[in-house]
Formats: sequence, C-alpha cells, structure tokens
Amino acid sequence: MENNINFKKFYVKPKLPNNLKPLYELAENLWSTWDISAYALFNRIDPIIFRKNNHNAIKLLQKIPETKLMELSKNKGFLNELNSVYKKFNSYKNYSGYFKDKNLKKNIFAKNFQIAYFSMEYGLHESIPVYSGGLGILSGDHLKAASDLGLPLTGFGLLYQYGYFSQQIDMNGKQKEIYIKNKWYEKSIKKVTDKNNEDLILKINVRDDEISVKVWKINVGKVSLYLFDTNLEINKPLYRKVTDHLYDSDREIRILQEIVLAFASIKLLDYLKIEPSVFHMNEGHSAFIIIKRLENLIKNKGFSFLEARKLIRTNSVFTTHTPVPAGNEAFDLNLVKHYLEKDINAVGFDFYEFAKYAQVESGNNFSMSVLAIRFSKYINGVSKLHGEVSKEMWHPIYPKIIKEEMPIDYITNGVHIQTWVSRQITGLFDRYIGSDYIHNSDISKIWDNILSIPDIEIWEAHQSRKQQMITFLREKLKTSIMYKGNDITSSERLDNALSPDKLTIGFARRFATYKRANLILKDKKRLLEILNNKERPIQFIFAGKAHPADEFGKAMIKEIIDFAKENSLEDRFIFIEDYDINIARHLVQGVDVWLNNPIKPMEASGTSGMKAGMNGALNVSILDGWWPECYNKNNGWGITAGYGVEDEEVRDYLDSKEIYDILEFEVAKLYYNRDSYSIPHEWIRMMKHSIKDVTLNFNMHRMLRQYNEKYYLPIYNYVKEISNNNYEEIHKTQEKQDIIDSNWENLKFVDVKITINEFTTIRSGESIKVNVDLDTNNIPDEYFSVEIVHQTNKNTFESHPLKFVKHENNLSTYKGVFNISGAGEQSYNIKISVNDSIVEENLFYVKWYY
Ligand SMILES: *Cc1c(COP(=O)(O)O)cnc(C)c1O
Repeated sequence: MENNINFKKFYVKPKLPNNLKPLYELAENLWSTWDISAYALFNRIDPIIFRKNNHNAIKLLQKIPETKLMELSKNKGFLNELNSVYKKFNSYKNYSGYFKDKNLKKNIFAKNFQIAYFSMEYGLHESIPVYSGGLGILSGDHLKAASDLGLPLTGFGLLYQYGYFSQQIDMNGKQKEIYIKNKWYEKSIKKVTDKNNEDLILKINVRDDEISVKVWKINVGKVSLYLFDTNLEINKPLYRKVTDHLYDSDREIRILQEIVLAFASIKLLDYLKIEPSVFHMNEGHSAFIIIKRLENLIKNKGFSFLEARKLIRTNSVFTTHTPVPAGNEAFDLNLVKHYLEKDINAVGFDFYEFAKYAQVESGNNFSMSVLAIRFSKYINGVSKLHGEVSKEMWHPIYPKIIKEEMPIDYITNGVHIQTWVSRQITGLFDRYIGSDYIHNSDISKIWDNILSIPDIEIWEAHQSRKQQMITFLREKLKTSIMYKGNDITSSERLDNALSPDKLTIGFARRFATYKRANLILKDKKRLLEILNNKERPIQFIFAGKAHPADEFGKAMIKEIIDFAKENSLEDRFIFIEDYDINIARHLVQGVDVWLNNPIKPMEASGTSGMKAGMNGALNVSILDGWWPECYNKNNGWGITAGYGVEDEEVRDYLDSKEIYDILEFEVAKLYYNRDSYSIPHEWIRMMKHSIKDVTLNFNMHRMLRQYNEKYYLPIYNYVKEISNNNYEEIHKTQEKQDIIDSNWENLKFVDVKITINEFTTIRSGESIKVNVDLDTNNIPDEYFSVEIVHQTNKNTFESHPLKFVKHENNLSTYKGVFNISGAGEQSYNIKISVNDSIVEENLFYVKWYY
C-alpha cells in the first residue's frame, strides 16, 4: 500500500460458538458498561486485553483468539456466569419501569408518550470518545437513567469522526492535541439500515445544497441514541468535515454542525414516525430544530406561523448550562443569514425579523439560547444558584416583568449511580441497603443504613479502591512522555509514585479559565509546607484538557507540571494526561478529597464532585453550583472567602488562603487522626455522610423524576388536551391575538382604591383591600388577569390575584384583600398580564400601575 494503490478495508468477525452468542448481544448494548456483573463477565475473558482496549467489549471479542472462544464455550463456570448476566439483562429490558412499578397510576405512560432529547455531545463510555466534559457526561447519564426508569426517551446527536481530541503533554509541559480517527466497527455502535437493508442516508437541504447524512445508533439500555455522520463520499468536501471534531473552532463548521444536528433529527423523527410529545433541548446548540419544526407545521400541517409557534412553545424544554453570557452559543448574524435565510423565508419571515427572536437587543448576534428561551415552555438551570443567576442573566429578554418572575426554574444535575460508584462501595450498598437500592434511590430512610456500616468496612473498601487507582495511575505515568528527560532518580520515583497511606487530593475537569486549576499554586511556599509536612503529608493528582484554542488553559497545565518538576514532586504532585471517563472514574473512586475551586457563580452545577461524594471522597469546594445544596458541615468543606470580591487578585488570594487553611488545619488533621489500628473514625464518619447525602440527593434518577414530573408529563397532558380536532384550540389563536394587538395599548387603569398610601405604617397581621377599575377597551376579561404583586422581602414576591367583580359601561372592576406579615419595608404594585394561552408570547403583554 506504500505505492499509492488504495486498498479498501473491511472487517472480519471471528466465528462465535452458538452458546456464546449472548455475549455479542451484551456487548452491543451499553448496559454492559455500567452493570457491574456484565463488566466482570467481560473482564474475566481477558482482563489485560479488556483493559488495554478501553473496556470495549466489542473490541475484546474481536481481539481474543478463536481458540480462546472455543475454550470458553466449553467452560461451565463461564457459561453459568454468562447465563446469569444474560438473564439479568433480559429482566432489565423487561422491567415495567419505575412509574408502573411504584404504581403511580397517574404516571403510567400512554403509548404515544415520547420524549426527544437533543444534545451536542454524549459522554457514555471511554470507548466512545464523542464528548468533551460535563455537558456530555450529563447527557449520557440522562439517557442511562431514562432507560433504568423506563422513560420513553430517544436521544439525538452527532458522531464525530475524531471526537474531541486526545491530549498529550510534551517534555516541556505543553499540551499537544492528537486527533485519532475513530473506527466505528470496533465499537458498540451500528449503522441504521432502511427496509432494503441498506445504510439509511437522510438528505437534508441547506441553502441550495443537499447534505447526505448517515445515521448511526447506540443502544443505551432500552433507550436509542441516534448519531449523525456527514463523512460520506457523495458530500462536498466542506460538508464531509462537519462531523469531524466536537466543538470545532471554525464558526462555519460549527453552524453547519448545529444545522445538521437539528435538520437531521427532525428528518429522522419523521422517518421513524415518532411524533414526540416533548422536545428537550439540552443547551442551545440544538435550537435550530425550532426552524425545522416551524417549517414542518406550516408547510405540511397547514399551521400559520403564530399557531406553529404556539404549539412549539407548549412542548419544548430548554436546559441552560452556562452562567456567563459569553459562554452561550451565538453566531454572527450574517453567517446565520447565509445558511438559513431560505428556511426562514419559507416560514413566511424576513430574515432580520425572525432574527429578533434570537436577540435581546438588535445587533450582530444570533443567540441560540435566546431563540431556545423564546420558543420553550419550560426553561431551567442546573442548580438552585444557577437558576437564580440565569433569571438575572436573561431578564433583559422580558423587561416588562420583574427578575423574580422570569420563567426560569432549576433542576439540579445528578449522576448515574451505577456508572460512577465503585465496585467496592456498590458491594456495601448491596449488603447494607439491599441490591434493589437502584429502584429505591428516592427512599431517604434506606440511605440512613449507610451510617451504620462498620467503619472498618468503609475504610477497607476505600483503601482497596485507592490502591487500584494508584496502580492504574502509575501505569499511566510510565507511558507518558512529559517526565522523560528528567534524571534517572526522578523516573525511578515515578514507578513508585503516590502512596496509599497519604492524604490524596484529586482535581480533574476541563481546564477552563474560570475553574482556576492553578489556584492552589497561588502561594507556592505555603503549598510546599503543606505538601512536605512530615506527619501529615499530602499528594495531589490533576487531570484535564484545555480547549485547543485556549492558551490560558494550556498555561495552567504547564504551570502545574513545572511546579512539580522544580520541586522534585513528580511522584506526588502529578498531572495525568488525556482526561477521560476512565480516568475520571478511577479518580473519583480512589481519592480521599475532591477539590473544586471555580469562580463563583460560574460553575452552573458541576458533577464530578457528586461522583466523588458518592464514593466517599470528601468535597473541598467553593460553595458554587450544586455544592451549596448538599454541604452541611458533616459531609465536606465549603470555601467562601473570595466570593463577591471584585479585585481578582484579592479574590484569588482569599480563596486560596482559605483552601490552604482548610487543608492544613482541618482536612489533614482529621485524616491523620487514627486509632491504634490506623483507622480514622472521624474521617469515616464524614465519608458516610457524604455517601448518604450525595447518593440520595444527587443521583440521576432523582433528576429524571423531576424532569418528568415538572416538565415532561405536564407537557404531555397539556398537549393531549389541546390536540383535539387537529389542534382546534390553537387554531383559534389568531383571532384572540388580533383582538389583543389592536386593543392592548388602550387598556387602562381608570381608578385604583387601596387602603394604604405610600409610606403608611401598618401592623403585621392587618390586611389591605384593593379595588381596581379598568377600561378594558373591549378586551374580554378572560384574556388577562389582574394581580397585586407584593414584595415582602428583598427577593421575595407574592402574587395575590384580584377577583373579577363586574363589567359595566366598558369598565371592569376587580377586588382583592391581602394580609401583611413580617416586618420592615415592604412594597406592592398592581399588574395586568395577558394569559399565556391567548397570545404568542405573553410576557410582552404586561402593564404595571405604578
Ligand atoms: C464528570 C466529568 C466531567 C464534569 O466535571 P465537572 O466537575 O462538572 O467539571 C468532565 N469530564 C469528565 C470526563 C467527567 O467524567
């Protein structure tokens, strides 16, 4: 092949004895990556090959020699184990689902209940590297938990030929990005075929071009994930590159990615004849589905724009993950115009008119998040704090309401227990809670049992896991080139890097600037004292990738590596290259402490701390993201010193000083406080609280139950209600909208009588009476509501709806009474607002009296 003659590759599967066929079925479903017994089964076949190949069961079955397979097919012990795992798999698939199981009658799903879930990345397993960080892991865990609970959900995304990138650190501590082409035939992923058994190729129209899209499928338990791939010979070179890299820095490629994700998803839904009840956009990247949905409803179903928009606004969910405006995906207006003007004209819009739906104020940006917000029924942040931050950040979209009324809620993220909890801790769950804990993760009292596990058992489980992590990391260090070129003594030290007896702190995540991976280096002298403390030494493990275009992130990596080299700490202040799910799992399961020090409030949620906490690693973390909802002094530490300090230097100084103090005076002291058998009872007490609190409250099943109860089901029920007679209800919209539009301006407060004046002092417990006369200007009273908005506290508002009394001489009278409690300064205002079902976007139709 060196002489430029191109040979076409194909792949030969080994012959598989009949009685081993179930092995393939297991390997072809990612269930076997998170089920502990399936994992053990594959590991048993050949632990070395299995580990070397990223725990990829498909590849394992390809790599082992046929003779070994024959041997296994005669090995009774193995066949027994295979049988029992296969049984477990089948009973998993046949499980009726949480909602039926718990006999939640109202929640028993109808046949046509379907959720479509869209995400730019999915982090499912180390062998399928099409993720970059937290967002992807969250999407992956979302699918896994939907499968566990029996939630009818289908995922859509892109299949990146080169994934994100592999990270290599060179001898100077610099990050190099290596792009490895994925070979899909050796992974648990399959081409989707059409009824002629040929590869399913969807054609999507972009401008005047056609892009061909190949469809792939991953089985995530009972959930299907469809991934799109444009690397086809029939495509123009530009389009072939679209699905090469996740988060490509080229803006043109990026917009094409988001177009392909959206257009191909909608096309595939059609092809599969799935009519989703709910469309869930995970981050703004998929918001172009809105344009395709409009087009479908208008062109194929005879909806007007207004009607189509209303329907979309009843069944879309948007989850935002980014608490900084700049982090939200936005495209240059001209780029969007270039690619999408035609589609936008097709729904009857001038491009610039439509673009306003994606803008807070006119300008050159087309914001995917704004578009998603303005077309969604439910919008949520991913922690309580992030929900509040998001309300404030997006308030400018709806300036006529107060910030607190912004329709942005929160559902705090969670993580998938079976994926992230170690074998050792799972063993304890099985014994002390019962192996059915997975279906009962919401029952608080079963988790109390964690507190009564004998200390020694927790400690042994943890130490055994920690030792395993250390072995794994030493192996990694040996093969990494970053420490090559050091003197011999330091490379010998590397072979024995890390000690299971030393307090071990893990820090691993994307090296985004706001995560401040180098904060711990703020005061190197102090850090060295802490690291080198004779009685209470500490060791650190870092890992994480910087985005290829992020020079600051890369500099942070180098700073960490240089510090270790300069101080001969390469064996206990280590950086592990090429952070991925496998490394993440080893770290969160093996370290003693998980450190997280982002700039508050930039961490929307954070999930690695949850993974660590479930395994008994104690969080030392800024009280940002999810941590304020969990931290209670018994289960870890909270850092607060720098919060709100404007001066960055001072802020970082304060935060780092608090970290040093906590590590030196609290963490290390507690950790090294041992009994005569070297057991740290006080430490273990905190481990138990961490395991209990985090597993109970931050598991993915809890998160999905909330999405279901708050969003998915209410949407399903509401859409069912309005879908009668081909959405008759929605088709009446235009008339109402017209009435509002032509009369709204002259709807007026005529007279307001209230039993207090401004600056009146009244006593708590007394009540206030209100009487409001409106000139409704012919707008029917059932189109709007009148309420008192009562500010009881700085950020607390109560709404008291006023009662309609009568309508005479074009005047409507409203009345109400509300009680005053509390003390201090309070205030009120009177608000008229149009009901959501009447107009296309009610938050623009608001009038205040004052
Ligand atoms: C969990 C996880 C993340 C997210 O970690 P954060 O704490 O949310 O930053 C990123 N990458 C990998 C590989 C993970 O497993």
